[in-house]
Amino acid sequence: MAATLRTHVGKVRKQNEDAAWFDEKLAVFAVADGMGGHQAGEVASMMAIDAVQKMAKANSEPGIALMRDTVRRAHEAMIEHANRNPACAGMGTTLSLMWKRKGYMYIAHVGDSRIYRMRDGVLEQITEDHSLVAEFVRNGLITPEEARVHPRRNIITRALGTAGDCEPDILATDTQPGDIWLLCSDGLSGMVEDAEIERVLSRGSIDKAADTLLKLALRAGGRDNITLILYKDEEAQPWNRD
Ligand code: CA
Repeated sequence: MAATLRTHVGKVRKQNEDAAWFDEKLAVFAVADGMGGHQAGEVASMMAIDAVQKMAKANSEPGIALMRDTVRRAHEAMIEHANRNPACAGMGTTLSLMWKRKGYMYIAHVGDSRIYRMRDGVLEQITEDHSLVAEFVRNGLITPEEARVHPRRNIITRALGTAGDCEPDILATDTQPGDIWLLCSDGLSGMVEDAEIERVLSRGSIDKAADTLLKLALRAGGRDNITLILYKDEEAQPWNRD
C-alpha cells in the first residue's frame, strides 16, 4: 500500500470528531476535523467526508470548479442539517482534500488541518492554516513558537458549516516519485513539531512512520483527536505534463 491512515480519540477527549478517508485507486485523500457539542462535530466531519466520497466516485478527474462546488455543497448541507436539528447548531468542520492526477495534487482546504509534502528529506507545509494564531504569525505579531502555545490557538477563521467564511483555498502543486504527502488534523500538528515529523518521515515505511507519529502525539499529551493520512507517490515515471 502506498497510503495509510490512522485516527485516534487521543487521551483527553471522549469522542473522536475527526473523520478521514482515502481511495488509493481514485487518488483522493481527505481529512476533516469536526467541532460542536452533542456529537455535532462527528456529524459535521462525516458530512464533509461523505461529500468528498460522492464527488470522487462520480467524477474521473479533479477540477478546481468541482472541488470548490463539493466544499460549498458540504457547507450548505451542514447549515441545513443544523437548521433542522437544533442540537447541531454551531457544528462545523475543517476539510483538507487532495486529489492526484498526472503529476499534480489538486488541493481544496478550509480550516486548520494541514497538508504537508516531504520531498528530498525536507518537509513543507503546503496549506495555510485558517486560524487566528496563523494570522497573527503572518502579520508578525507572534512567532510560530508562540502560536503553538497561544491560549487562542484553537480559534479557526474559516470552517464548513459555520456562519462565517467557508471559501476554500484551492491550489494545484506538483508531486514527484518519492514524495510523501501528509494530511493531518491539529491533534498531530499541534502536538508534534514539524522538525520531528520531518525526522520520522525521513526513515522507514509510511506504515511505520504513521505508527510513530501517532505514538508521538499521544506521548506529547494527546490533548485532541489525532488523525493522519500518509501517501507515498510511487509513480515509476514522472508524468509527461503536456
Ligand atoms: Ca482538532
